[in-house]
Amino acid sequence: MIEDKQPQRTPLSSLGEFGLIDHLTKNFNIKHESTIKGIGDDAAVVDFKDQQCVVTTDLLVEGVHFDLSYVPLKHLGYKSVMVNLSDVYAMNATPKQITVSIAVSNRFPLEALEELYEGIHTAAKVYDIDVIGGDTTSSQKGLLISITALGHAPKEDIVYRNGAKDNDLVVLSGDIGGAYLGLQVLERENEVFKVNPNNQPDLSMYTYLIERQLKPEARKDVPKLLKDLGVKPTSMIDVSDGLSSEIIHLCKSSEVGATLYEDKIPLDPTVISTCEEFELDSTTIALSGGEDYELLFTIKQEDYDKIKANPSLTIIGHITPKNNGIYLVTRGETKVEIKARGWNSLTEE
Ligand code: ADP
Ligand code: MG
Repeated sequence: MIEDKQPQRTPLSSLGEFGLIDHLTKNFNIKHESTIKGIGDDAAVVDFKDQQCVVTTDLLVEGVHFDLSYVPLKHLGYKSVMVNLSDVYAMNATPKQITVSIAVSNRFPLEALEELYEGIHTAAKVYDIDVIGGDTTSSQKGLLISITALGHAPKEDIVYRNGAKDNDLVVLSGDIGGAYLGLQVLERENEVFKVNPNNQPDLSMYTYLIERQLKPEARKDVPKLLKDLGVKPTSMIDVSDGLSSEIIHLCKSSEVGATLYEDKIPLDPTVISTCEEFELDSTTIALSGGEDYELLFTIKQEDYDKIKANPSLTIIGHITPKNNGIYLVTRGETKVEIKARGWNSLTEE
């Protein structure tokens, strides 16, 4: 006998707004002492005592920031939390609370939102975050998710974008370019699927890239690692838009220039092989890809010995005076100016 595998589709209208909020938020327990009041009043209340509060927010819009034809809702929930936590870590602070606001069209059944919240719940659990509120409303078309993260740090620990100084070393965590290539793989498979839905592609060789795209992890470990090593970055930013735009942001804020080295940019072997397959230049992808959620920061020269042996940190260049500009030294030892974004991001000096 063939089982009926039609997934259940409970219309949102059958719960009503308050029923829906209760249903989605019933599993969120408060873990932190700093959360004085969570879900259930007109506003949440937090208390970071003598520490400074860091606040950041991101808005994700269907069709602009994500495409549900290849992004599972559970992953979307997880990633929406990550993009916010990453910003808090980039301030060298510890995230503690988030609020989650959603706008949904009637095309989504309750089960879809359950999946989304499963991802949010998992992220909150793994990163030790309290979900303390949000808002729920309807949209004419599509899904919108806005998450706000709150965190804290002692005043003296907070790292801004504007502290880089001449001669500082430029450091990057992890490796980059993977998330962008993961998206290219998913988009290609989506096109193939449209033509032949019976095609079962073998994506095992792209696992790392797809994970980088669908399930990015914010670098919770990096601020802690730096603290343990006794290094306070002079400036820091997270890599959400690609290395080139981030180094430009950092240099503009700090009023400095930078020289990066192409052969130092950390790339996973799968990034290199997939770039060859897609006939893409791996340096261009690393510079303009985005969504890697690694941390880009600068440290004083004298801290070099403390970080040099660390496998998750790579020194990719150094800071120069502002009038030197922002350059990449290629493998062929040509100096090319780093431009904001796009496929022609490299132009000869
Ligand atoms: P208000 O009318 O004051 O905006 P709501 O009825 O919208 O309050 O929300 C009730 C409670 O549920 C509030 O604490 C709010 O922060 C929380 N909340 C509402 N929507 C969500 C959501 N999508 N995720 C998490 N918490 C939510
Ligand atoms: Mg509300």
